[in-house]
Amino acid sequence: MKSEFNPLAFKGPFLNGRFVRADEGEPFVSQDPGDLSAPVGEARSLSAAAEAVDVARTAFPAWRDLSQARRQAHLRRYQKVLASRRDRLALAISRETGKTEEESRDEAAAMVAKVDLTIRHGMPLVAGRAFSLEGGSRALLRYRPRGVVGVIGPFNVPGHLPNGQIVPALLTGNTVVFKPSEMAPFVGQALAEAVEEAELPPGVFNLVQGDANLGAALAADPGVNALFFTGSAATGARVKALSDRCPDRLLALEMGGKNAALVLPDAPWERTLDQVVHGAFATSGQRCSSTSRVFVHRRAARRFVKDFMSRLARLTLGYFTEGRDLGPLIDERAVARFLSAQDAAERLGFACLKRGEAAPQKRPGHYVSPSAHLWEGFPSKLLIGPRDYWDEELFAPDVAIYVLDSDEEMVALNNASRYGLAASVFTADAKAFRGLRARLDNGVVHWNRTTAMTPGVLPFGGVKASGNGWPAGLFVPYACTVPVGSVETPARKR
Ligand code: NAD
Repeated sequence: MKSEFNPLAFKGPFLNGRFVRADEGEPFVSQDPGDLSAPVGEARSLSAAAEAVDVARTAFPAWRDLSQARRQAHLRRYQKVLASRRDRLALAISRETGKTEEESRDEAAAMVAKVDLTIRHGMPLVAGRAFSLEGGSRALLRYRPRGVVGVIGPFNVPGHLPNGQIVPALLTGNTVVFKPSEMAPFVGQALAEAVEEAELPPGVFNLVQGDANLGAALAADPGVNALFFTGSAATGARVKALSDRCPDRLLALEMGGKNAALVLPDAPWERTLDQVVHGAFATSGQRCSSTSRVFVHRRAARRFVKDFMSRLARLTLGYFTEGRDLGPLIDERAVARFLSAQDAAERLGFACLKRGEAAPQKRPGHYVSPSAHLWEGFPSKLLIGPRDYWDEELFAPDVAIYVLDSDEEMVALNNASRYGLAASVFTADAKAFRGLRARLDNGVVHWNRTTAMTPGVLPFGGVKASGNGWPAGLFVPYACTVPVGSVETPARKR
């Protein structure tokens, strides 16, 4: 990856096909969490939500009325531009989030692939159906776009997740207002630059830049017909409260997780270790689908803890250009939360296998060393107390290992969480996996695979505080459309 460490130039909101008013609004700095001495650039927060929604509303009828083939042609051009800018995109992702080079490259590649995936596998879901009825009538199911789709993005997958909503929203005939995370304004800008170069019709995609206040203004705007939010459960609850004022809006929430790996005594050993370590420590634990709990059967526990801890000890930390396993956390608040969780775990009675600490590197950044804690037996006492640590999404490289005696205990502990996003079961026994899958209260349940990766050919999302509406993965076109039923009875010829 080419290292361009000059600060990037901020271009302002992208409205009606153009970047505008770059020097208006409150300045804020996009930090590089892995090198605080080299900010990515200065951006500006401008209250342009209402204006962007108006622009998108105006552009909607013409975009809706284009044929599917024409919209696809526009999105293909966008895909081409994204592909040609893949390296720059990956660089912006690594610099604004601290992700490793490999992770950022994967994210940029996933953004490019999203267009094909949506056209091939997503759009057929909303292609409509016809049924013949008695007497020559037909029942038709058609899907129409909702109108203006608002997309509020998280910092941790700042390109791929919003893009995974924007592409289906546009393909199904909606227009879009996107607010990226204030931690990653330049990744958001990169998307708008691709739209600009691809010459999508003005107003079909709009970008506003800013923080929570701007997000709240977008969420409160009654002109937003569907709102896709990806972020924490706490923010999601605020977005939901704001959306309650818009009862006809579709609100789709993608929120956090407290995801568990269930390790049965017959788990395929090396694969289990590889996948659990990936699940726990990819993106330094900053994925909604990160494995933050491991439930290991007592018969496998001693060996698992020994082998897992020896892998944990080998993990390397560093800046994204250095080819290490883990990068930094996103900011000082995330570091403080991680460090105080270490105390909380010990206070609650977890045994500390390895304490997480601030881990200074060559470059000044938010680096921490990974941590692990152990609980022997079913933690009945925890489940009746506050949810600190054991059911808190830390979004950091920490794993709580529980030694349990049965599948039933694993299911009970998994389902006791307020979250219900991802789980993984590690066993050689397909029947045991299927039995557990049916009882685990999660949106995705994998077999002998990391919790932290679900391919785009599947719907992605969770239950309980993890979300609703599945506005990620394959099913996004459903969230972008209204099903319209018609019974058609042709007039008889006289
Ligand atoms: P966050 O909740 O802090 O912020 C998310 C977005 O919401 C940002 O753009 C922010 O500016 C905006 N926002 C903040 N306050 C708002 C308000 N009152 N109204 C409207 N918008 C507001 O989340 P984050 O720290 O950027 O991302 C990490 C979180 O996202 C984690 O909890 C993670 O699990 C979750 N996440 C979930 C998924 C998923 O698919 N389920 C994927 C990625 C991240």
